[in-house]
Amino acid sequence: MTKFERCWVYILVILVAVSNLLVLARVRELESEIAALEAAQGIVAAEPATVSLRMAQQASAGAGRREPAEPQPMQPAMQSGIFTAYAYCACEKCCGKWAQYGVTASGTVPQQGRTVAVDPDVIPLGSELWIDGEGPFVAEDTGSGINGSTIDVYHDSHADALKWGKREVTVTWYE
Ligand SMILES: [Zn+2]
Repeated sequence: MTKFERCWVYILVILVAVSNLLVLARVRELESEIAALEAAQGIVAAEPATVSLRMAQQASAGAGRREPAEPQPMQPAMQSGIFTAYAYCACEKCCGKWAQYGVTASGTVPQQGRTVAVDPDVIPLGSELWIDGEGPFVAEDTGSGINGSTIDVYHDSHADALKWGKREVTVTWYE
């Protein structure tokens, strides 16, 4: 072998050694990943045993007597619709004879940013509702002109109510 050839052999040997080391490192990494996965599966596998143990305990506690079904909380249904939103305030121009009372149909003191008048046949009084682009409100008032797909958004001043005007909005609420 010439000096030149020997040099190439050395380079090859070093390359092979380095690649072996890299492969070994990767194998170690995979091994620890597998160990972690196995540990996770061990936790999952332990779960059904715990559940069946609990069921066995409940069955022995019940001693043959049938447990009454647990009452399930009613899931509120989400409703959504496009409404024509008007604005009002507590003045006589907006509320007529009702202005003297200064409270909403549900007895609360109206508050800008919270109070909305609705048709209670469409949105039940007390519902929390979301007006797209405006935020959360509470259906707590009614109005003579507020029927079907209309709502009335309460404002502190008549000027603010006029500024709001009339808009088409998407309203979402839970029934
Ligand atoms: Zn007004």
